[in-house]
Amino acid sequence: MQYLKRSVATDVRAKADRGVRDIVEKTLADIEDRGDAAVRELSIKFDGWDRESYALTPGEKQDCLDQLSGQDLKDIEFAQAQVRNFAQIQRDSMKDVEVETLPGVVLGHKNLPLNSAGCYIPGGKYPLLASAHMSVITAKVAGVPRVITCAPPFQGKPAPAIVAAQVLAGADEIYALGGIQAVGAMAIGTESIRPVDILVGPGNAFVAEAKRQLFGRVGIDLFAGPTETLVIADEIGCDAELAATDLLGQAEHGPDSPAILLTTSEKLARETMAEIERLLRILPTADYARKAWESYGEVIVADDAIEMVRIADDIASEHVQVMTGDPDFFLRNMTNYGALFLGARTNVSFGDKVIGTNHTLPTKKAARYTGGLWVGKFLKTCTYQRVLTDEASAMIGEYCSRLCALEGFAGHGEQANIRVRRYGHRDIPY
Ligand code: NAD
Repeated sequence: MQYLKRSVATDVRAKADRGVRDIVEKTLADIEDRGDAAVRELSIKFDGWDRESYALTPGEKQDCLDQLSGQDLKDIEFAQAQVRNFAQIQRDSMKDVEVETLPGVVLGHKNLPLNSAGCYIPGGKYPLLASAHMSVITAKVAGVPRVITCAPPFQGKPAPAIVAAQVLAGADEIYALGGIQAVGAMAIGTESIRPVDILVGPGNAFVAEAKRQLFGRVGIDLFAGPTETLVIADEIGCDAELAATDLLGQAEHGPDSPAILLTTSEKLARETMAEIERLLRILPTADYARKAWESYGEVIVADDAIEMVRIADDIASEHVQVMTGDPDFFLRNMTNYGALFLGARTNVSFGDKVIGTNHTLPTKKAARYTGGLWVGKFLKTCTYQRVLTDEASAMIGEYCSRLCALEGFAGHGEQANIRVRRYGHRDIPY
């Protein structure tokens, strides 16, 4: 394996992470202390955005819908239908369970929707309306009764498309708030925003860190920060133009978005690097993409497909686009990824916007321990049990009693003993 290009930003990134951590900590404490007054000041400070109330009125929502063309609305509705359909299929696959595991012993679990969810819809650099489908619709399919959203103003006011997507997705309350102040208000609660049980949705480094710090106080879906992409390619499944397009398509998210090419072909690697330079001269969003590529871009040439799997699992990228002669080899063998895009006919943008899988995905190696946002993140799998007969109660009670004695837990032991005496009509020496 050899690197033709390495990320030069590891130290810079670690320092930036520390800076973000400190800002988030202070900002959340301020929201905790001063509620709405702090939220308003922070919104002015970070977004130049001031309102008496950050909740959008019915008139404002309608106005946003009216500003979209019929085609815009149809396109949003098509995307939402795909997300809803796949989320429903996933919901239907999650069965409640009730089984008699021993004679007279019944164990079960129920998948219960959370009571409320706060969805962050990012929109600082681009109004990412697709995040509304991904969060709000998925929560609603899970059965969450109260789903609220926050999206920052875009170029000085709420972007009509992002508001329309939230309305059409079925958000119950829509707030025009961004960044730490949005996430903090939804989790901590203020005089005007009731707190939620879980925070979901992607965002920049500030948003992701705020969610991380709030975890425990509320649930969070996952660590979904600045977008990352890994393109795995060979000369059979890909060419330089496709590889370069798919790398820059994700690098344009922001200057801190890593894009990595992993290939067995040095020829393809060198051609892709040249093609990236050509595309960066014509891509309208090249400002972000160039910074991301120069700081975080990597090109790795591996010896064979097995080594590519090992390297890719180590990177644990949010998105993995596979364009090789046998894409399914990676589906069979890879274990760490947010989402796989198999073959040249699909790509990350399809997943981001419309195809129906969720685009809120783990970053910074969180794919080692979690998949992306899905209907299951809005459900609690809660267990219950029942003992149907006196015999079963006394039989389990005897085991329990002895195990409690091993731990020295007298009170627990007595909970078991009383049942052995009452239902088994015998004593246990303890
Ligand atoms: P954003 O809505 O996440 O963040 C904008 C907010 O950041 C602003 O409202 C502002 O309040 C706050 N902010 C900006 N600079 C700040 C500072 N110096 N101090 C404190 N707060 C500050 O929008 P964005 O910035 O465009 O970022 C969107 C991010 O979402 C991108 O990084 C993108 O890659 C990521 N994303 C991730 C996924 C995923 O699933 N992981 C999916 C889509 C998008």
